[in-house]
Amino acid sequence: MTKTSNIIDKVENNIIHTYNRYQIALDEGEGMYLYDVEGKKYLDFGSGIGVFALGYGNKEYNDAVKAQVDKLIHTSNYFYNEPSALASEKFIKASGMTKVFYTNSGAEAVEGALKLAKKYGKMTKGDNCYEIIAMNKSFHGRTIGAVSVTGNEHYRESFEPLLPGVKFADYNNLESVKALISDRTCAVIMETIQGEGGVTPATEEFVKGVRTLCDENNILMIADEIQCGMGRSGYMFAYQRFGILPDIVTSAKALGCGVPIGAFAAGSKVCDVLCAGDHGTTYGGNPLACAASLAVFNLFEKNNLLENVVEVGAYLYKRLDEIKAICPSITDHRGIGFMQGLEYDHPVSGIIQKLLDAGLIVFSAGPNVIRFLPPLIATMKDVDDMINILKEWAIE
Ligand SMILES: *Cc1c(COP(=O)(O)O)cnc(C)c1O
Repeated sequence: MTKTSNIIDKVENNIIHTYNRYQIALDEGEGMYLYDVEGKKYLDFGSGIGVFALGYGNKEYNDAVKAQVDKLIHTSNYFYNEPSALASEKFIKASGMTKVFYTNSGAEAVEGALKLAKKYGKMTKGDNCYEIIAMNKSFHGRTIGAVSVTGNEHYRESFEPLLPGVKFADYNNLESVKALISDRTCAVIMETIQGEGGVTPATEEFVKGVRTLCDENNILMIADEIQCGMGRSGYMFAYQRFGILPDIVTSAKALGCGVPIGAFAAGSKVCDVLCAGDHGTTYGGNPLACAASLAVFNLFEKNNLLENVVEVGAYLYKRLDEIKAICPSITDHRGIGFMQGLEYDHPVSGIIQKLLDAGLIVFSAGPNVIRFLPPLIATMKDVDDMINILKEWAIE
């Protein structure tokens, strides 16, 4: 029995089977590379679904996390802690929001954003103002509130009835949003670049149009930046491409680069809507998670990661366009920065398996799209290495 099959046996016996996993057990990481327990090396263009922005084994990040482990990991939110003071300062400055609430995951950040919006609706327009407009093909997480606003029937149907008053508009179709707005609407929630739904950037017209509709109707605009935020678009947050500010921003994934932490943040108009007793979490904002997030922000600055994403992201765009040009079954190439996708006219699971066998990790986004989410440290050489593997295994 190999080491891998031994691990797979135990996991499949002990852990509830909600994932069809690849038959690989990962063990170590270094820079852009991951190694499985058999010692096989993989070039990583997935970053654990957009999480590990800094590349694996970053010494300064690891040292910051280790130092906090030795000092203090958890206190409860009945006390103050310095890492949360410092990390929140960074988050607010980077996002343009006014105050932040730390959670443990992306879904939990979305829950908090929805609670804030519902309370705001009640306060300003009364008990009937609880409807939320979400987007078809969106993804916001797996908890009941988050799945209620996720525009994918498959993720919702086994758990209905879900949150009442959720309506779905078409992404990048402003008229479809307008048609759903009423005096019962408290919020519009959208990803600035849809991730799971197929790597689709919002158009400038759509983002600015939603912002204006929300202003005109006193509705809160929630930008879910859990995947597209934290530098992936070449901006710290993807809405900054268009110079607008949402009322509420959600973040997670690369926010802690692997140490679980999420956040929802509110702009000046709504940052005091939630009061003492309205919301809470035992772990959220603990010193360990916040020390990790603080290190992430510091290293983004120190290593000029945004500049790297802009420069190498443009190169990735050009090279993926070349792949599209020579592959008749690729129907579209979308995305920006280090969040790009190739859409095929057929499911891509077979290609992804072949790429894994060849030592390249990429994920799909929906059945037909290969999604490229490299760590933000990827170089042009890494892109070339990735493209060489694609040329051999992904042209069909
Ligand atoms: C991953 C993701 C979530 C959910 O985050 P979890 O940490 O898995 O709960 C929510 N929204 C978007 C856009 C995501 O990509």
